[in-house]
Amino acid sequence: MKAAVLTAPGNIAQKPLRIEEVPCPTLQPGHVLLKVRACGVCRTDLHITEGDIPPRLDHVIPGHQIVGEIIDGATPELPISTRVGVSWIGGTDGTCWYCSHAMENLCDSPTFTGYTVNGGYAEYASARADFVFPLPQELDDLHAAPLLCAGIIGFRSLRVAGTQHGERVGLFGFGASAHLAIEVLHAWNCEVYVSTRGESHRKLAESLGAKWVGSETEKPPCELDRAVTFAPSGDVVVAALASLRKGGVVAINAIHLDRMPQFDYDSLLWGERQIRSVANMTRADARDFLELAAEIKLHPKVTSFSLDQANEALLAVKKDAIDGAAVILP
Ligand SMILES: [Zn+2]
Ligand SMILES: [Zn+2]
Repeated sequence: MKAAVLTAPGNIAQKPLRIEEVPCPTLQPGHVLLKVRACGVCRTDLHITEGDIPPRLDHVIPGHQIVGEIIDGATPELPISTRVGVSWIGGTDGTCWYCSHAMENLCDSPTFTGYTVNGGYAEYASARADFVFPLPQELDDLHAAPLLCAGIIGFRSLRVAGTQHGERVGLFGFGASAHLAIEVLHAWNCEVYVSTRGESHRKLAESLGAKWVGSETEKPPCELDRAVTFAPSGDVVVAALASLRKGGVVAINAIHLDRMPQFDYDSLLWGERQIRSVANMTRADARDFLELAAEIKLHPKVTSFSLDQANEALLAVKKDAIDGAAVILP
């Protein structure tokens, strides 16, 4: 099969992904084999490809927002031809302290799709049968793909921030994840304040009904109950913190930050303000979010790329060159 393979991480401009013919995955016990119909491109794929997070395999096929059709390994619950989604959490041990306390997102021995096992920048992929999610009819392949990490993790970020219906919520950065989160927030009757770099991202935020839109570290005109940061930048986290009311929460939706700058405790964190990171997702987050997405007819803005253009897709994500999400169609 054709796949985009990473052997040596490097600057994405140097095209570190090689498009090659590799053997198809073989069916393993407890797994399903999928024909990949679409695979979303996530900023984490960029961090893996550029080596911001250290490699775990000598050769890996990235991609963890897979829409696939089951072609082997079917079960009574997952018959042949079922269309399913695969996300970043590809499996957990089910036995560690976190797994037994409903925090499987923090599992001590997790499998990460497209990082510790091969992902979906390929024509075929293998996935654990208990970690795939049947997809609602309402969502077509292209538009379902970005929901599988950008969407689910954005949704989890709103949960981690403790978002309540009707609150004022700030989104700092407006890429693939945030442009889905804003629609969830509107479904919850929240007012949304967006700070982001790039004129086209600001225009998109406006068109999606943001109450206020400003530049990257610009402070919204009123105090926020919650904020979620999406940019891989510590300065943005501090800007979000400076926008909160007492008792407010910043949730950091980033697997990697450039650095965390020093900041003034007395004015920024005192008053029971909180900073929380958002790590991975649980299967319950995925199911709850996909159900909501179908209900509110969530429709991501997407730009599609061929498998041959996997490097170009990641470069576009790095440069914030597209609005919404990038999706690879193998
Ligand atoms: Zn575990
Ligand atoms: Zn992701």
